[in-house]
Amino acid sequence: MPKIIQLPPHEAQKIAAGEVIERPANIVKELLENAIDAQATHVSIYIEDAGKKLIRIIDNGCGMDKHDAQLCFDRHATSKITQVSDLETINTFGFRGEALASIAAISNITLTTAQENVLEGTQVVINGGTIENVNIVAASQGTDIAIADLFFNVPARKKFLKSTETEWRAIQQLFNAFCFDYPHICFSLFNNNKHVAHYPTTDSLKNRALQLWESTVNHHIIDIEKKDDQCSITGIITDHQTYRYDKNNIYFFVNNRWVKNYQLNNALIKGYANVIPEGRYPLAAIHIQVPAHVVDINIHPRKEEVKFLHPRSIEQTIQQAVKIALEQNISRHLKRDITFQAPPSPQYKPIQTHFTPFNFDSLFSSAHVDKNNQHDNNPLPIHKKIDFTQIEAVPRTQAITHQPLSISHEHAVKETNFRLIGQFQKTYILIEKQEGLFLVDQHAAHERILYEQFAHKLHNTATIPLLFPHIITLSNHDIQLIEPYFVLFATHGIMIEQCANDQLIIQSLPVYLKNESLESLIQDFLIWISEYKTLEKEDFIKTVNNKLQAQMACKAAVKAGDELSAEKMLQLLHDLEKTANRMTCPHGRPTSWLISLNDIEKKFKRKT
Ligand code: ADP
Ligand code: MG
Repeated sequence: MPKIIQLPPHEAQKIAAGEVIERPANIVKELLENAIDAQATHVSIYIEDAGKKLIRIIDNGCGMDKHDAQLCFDRHATSKITQVSDLETINTFGFRGEALASIAAISNITLTTAQENVLEGTQVVINGGTIENVNIVAASQGTDIAIADLFFNVPARKKFLKSTETEWRAIQQLFNAFCFDYPHICFSLFNNNKHVAHYPTTDSLKNRALQLWESTVNHHIIDIEKKDDQCSITGIITDHQTYRYDKNNIYFFVNNRWVKNYQLNNALIKGYANVIPEGRYPLAAIHIQVPAHVVDINIHPRKEEVKFLHPRSIEQTIQQAVKIALEQNISRHLKRDITFQAPPSPQYKPIQTHFTPFNFDSLFSSAHVDKNNQHDNNPLPIHKKIDFTQIEAVPRTQAITHQPLSISHEHAVKETNFRLIGQFQKTYILIEKQEGLFLVDQHAAHERILYEQFAHKLHNTATIPLLFPHIITLSNHDIQLIEPYFVLFATHGIMIEQCANDQLIIQSLPVYLKNESLESLIQDFLIWISEYKTLEKEDFIKTVNNKLQAQMACKAAVKAGDELSAEKMLQLLHDLEKTANRMTCPHGRPTSWLISLNDIEKKFKRKT
């Protein structure tokens, strides 16, 4: 007995529909694309029950005549190409003529449409793919398409729809993406008859972001731009002070098409390395323009993903663009908010000493405090003159001779617009600035300074042999784990050998590290080995190396609770100013904070 039967067309159509339509957001996407292809400038979207009950989109685009209003529901009915070769020059979203046919097969649709300068339009009612009614109705230019009872005839698919909340979130995210993609279109969104968003026409991505993102983000948006022979990148990102716990506010557009691409997201996040805490994510909307032949948009049935011919180079360009934009922004911010340099003294010039190992103790020890100065117990007089040449002479690494954030000495030394108020809670350094009250977390700031110094003298760290070598007892298993990394420790100036089955001996240490910190440093390292073991070798080494550096900086840095003299505080501020990535500590916490005078005055109701 033969087993093969030909599926009736309406059954085959339902199956085919599943490829294009999995969830309500897919329909919203197809309909929005049609509205945009029809040159609409106003688009309103009505959603009920996350689209399961109703998705209705009204546009003011070109509309259709009576003939097209019926034909558009046929398979392969499209006005966008007439032959396959047109695909090479196409610049509309749709071209397969499949969306409306697929949607019609699995829902009940009412379409009302009218073209320009006509007195009447056409209304088509089509249920489960069968046209029920075609009427002439009064209508204004554009198309109003209402999709009801999604998957009413495909219960299996209906069952797989996620919760109303999840489906609604997917629609919202898609809506936001279109809003970013087309700032010149006015969008409105209604959810269960409630008007939830209205974004009038604007002329830039940034202005659209001001409409979409909460007002607290407004002053934290920066532009990015970079062009090379592979691609051109433009967009907006948030600065180092603004981040979220998820990646939902990151949007990428490739040749104006919203795409989801893990690698692009990653490149963006890498651009924020050391600037925002790990596990936090920026807000961003980034356009990538590439020649059509270097990108494949057909790897996904709904064209939500893309594949690049040279993905690495595009990722690098993004990472670079983000990094540069952040650095320039932080630099601007610093010039405005903090300049810690003292008045220029005639002899002032950065001392170009030969490499001297950093010695935290000597830098901050009382030996370098001016004993004649009675202002150790703050507050300091306004604009106290500090002789930096004296402090510069303290043995200190010259590692940070580069100034990636490029605040020139010239500029810096000219400014004297701060007053050191003192130390608060033995943890924060308080500074009076014209703009407000500036707070610096002494530990976070010192950690960042040391971390950058260590990074610059890797392999070149001055070590001191220990008079009494330090013994650390560990399980043999842990020793086996850590043994391959003795070389890595050595690059940081920590010389380790195994001296017994369960013992390590530390022969020498970098000058700034104290013996007591070693035990916990080794324990931390063991945790990182297990935490990052799934990484590729190169990434693993890079990660644990950074961690080690950060942890060493943390152990060597001045602690919260340490009392600091005025000179020590000024030295710290002075060093911080010359340090890269200075806005956060290596763990991502902020090093400093400005409470604006404006905010203070508002709090005291001196201002409204
Ligand atoms: P495609 O977009 O791939 O051509 P669709 O099934 O989405 O296929 O749409 C079929 C056709 O219906 C389109 O080519 C277009 O001519 C017409 N159409 C669909 N939606 C609209 C709209 N909102 N305004 C004007 N014409 C539309
Ligand atoms: Mg289409």
